[in-house]
Amino acid sequence: MNEQGNTPFKFFSLGGSNEVGRSCHILQYKGKTIMLDAGVHPAYQGMASLPFYDEFDLSTIDVLLISHFHLDHAASLPYVMQKTNFKGRVFMTHPTKAIYRWLLRDFVRVTSIGVNSTIGNDDNIYTDEDLAESFDKIETVDYHSTVDVDGIKFTAFHAGHVLGAAMFQIEIAGLRVLFTGDYSREMDRHLNSAEVPSLPSDVLIVESTFGTATHEPRLNREKNLTQLIHSTVSRGGRVLLPVFALGRAQEIMLILDEYWSQHAEELGSGQVPIYYASNLAKKCMSVFQTYVNMMNDDIRRKFRDSQTNPFIFKNISYLRNLEEFQDFGPSVMLASPGMLQSGLSRDVLEKWCPDEKNLVLITGYSIEGTMAKFIMLEPDTIPSINNPEVTVPRRCNVEEISFAAHVDFQENLEFIEKISANNIILVHGESNPMGRLKSAILSNFTALKGTENEVHIFNPRNCVEVELEFKGIKVAK
Ligand SMILES: [Zn+2]
Repeated sequence: MNEQGNTPFKFFSLGGSNEVGRSCHILQYKGKTIMLDAGVHPAYQGMASLPFYDEFDLSTIDVLLISHFHLDHAASLPYVMQKTNFKGRVFMTHPTKAIYRWLLRDFVRVTSIGVNSTIGNDDNIYTDEDLAESFDKIETVDYHSTVDVDGIKFTAFHAGHVLGAAMFQIEIAGLRVLFTGDYSREMDRHLNSAEVPSLPSDVLIVESTFGTATHEPRLNREKNLTQLIHSTVSRGGRVLLPVFALGRAQEIMLILDEYWSQHAEELGSGQVPIYYASNLAKKCMSVFQTYVNMMNDDIRRKFRDSQTNPFIFKNISYLRNLEEFQDFGPSVMLASPGMLQSGLSRDVLEKWCPDEKNLVLITGYSIEGTMAKFIMLEPDTIPSINNPEVTVPRRCNVEEISFAAHVDFQENLEFIEKISANNIILVHGESNPMGRLKSAILSNFTALKGTENEVHIFNPRNCVEVELEFKGIKVAK
């Protein structure tokens, strides 16, 4: 603390800076410490997938906020809570907690497959018991209701993206910081889009996944998706959509279920079956059916008007595993995991990719180093997951239509302008798109350069500190 009583605000990431994956950011101000998210990196296994927790004394953290249930934001939480000296309080929204439970149980199961119990498993960073114990200690928050933990106030706002996703606005001694997590601004079939908090923020920590790229409008993307799938199945092909079990998969299912009903003569009544293959399928859908009240007006109206749950699909059946799947004729398969690292979607990929009639359609964001990223380069062969010595020929089509529900450049810039924070910290983006985003935002704000409203933008690497001085911030009484 200096003579004026000013303490600097400090930010640094243990993961998720200049990369997508293992999100974990630390804020320190006036003796308070907050951790934002606790993810894993989907391209790595075991301890290598964790944020750099050894670089920080986790026992000093007062509050840990989880923005949403995706693995790159939440999957190392049981590790932090059960395997480290962390003793702070953990908060997330109700739907995030409900989904977290099933999702991480599946994560534990998948990472422990093929484990020789006598040798132990390096890939398991925690067990089912750790998960169960962590679950009881997690506290839930409602949207728009402020929680105060010893002078750290925080409020959850809708972030779009996936069910339960939140932006957190944090206030410590008058200083306000907004953390977007992953967010989307486009109106979706089932989610509220991200909102602008009514109170201004001094610091904005914002995702930069798509950098300066532009998305096509949603209606075009929906049309491209349904036409591409329809033409593939019409010529006898099979379509694999690798999806994360929960979240964006449900948006795709809403689109396909509606389209199948509109083209019932050609596609309906099991002529071209749609499968949702995940061992979480049933549990996941019950969570979605429960939380319709947290979704947008559109889907709530449909729910009221038809008296039937929009997440009870007419044209989609659930598959728990491939043993119960009879692979005759064209079909559409949504299967997890979304990045084809292992499991169901990978098995289906290896089965279908040798046939040129088939299509692999990527709809999520594919992280560097994963099979989903690799397959988009259209390699001649791919390694088999069960035996890396064996290669499988790849002749199927590969296409990408994004339904990842991250903002594009224009949406991000508009939101950043609305927040009008003087300090912007970019996270959750690979170095190149993040660098381009930084330049584009800077040139957008050149007029403010040298004025007291000058906008400062930071794109730090992991474990590199950003220090900001705040003078004259009024302490709320
Ligand atoms: Zn996400």
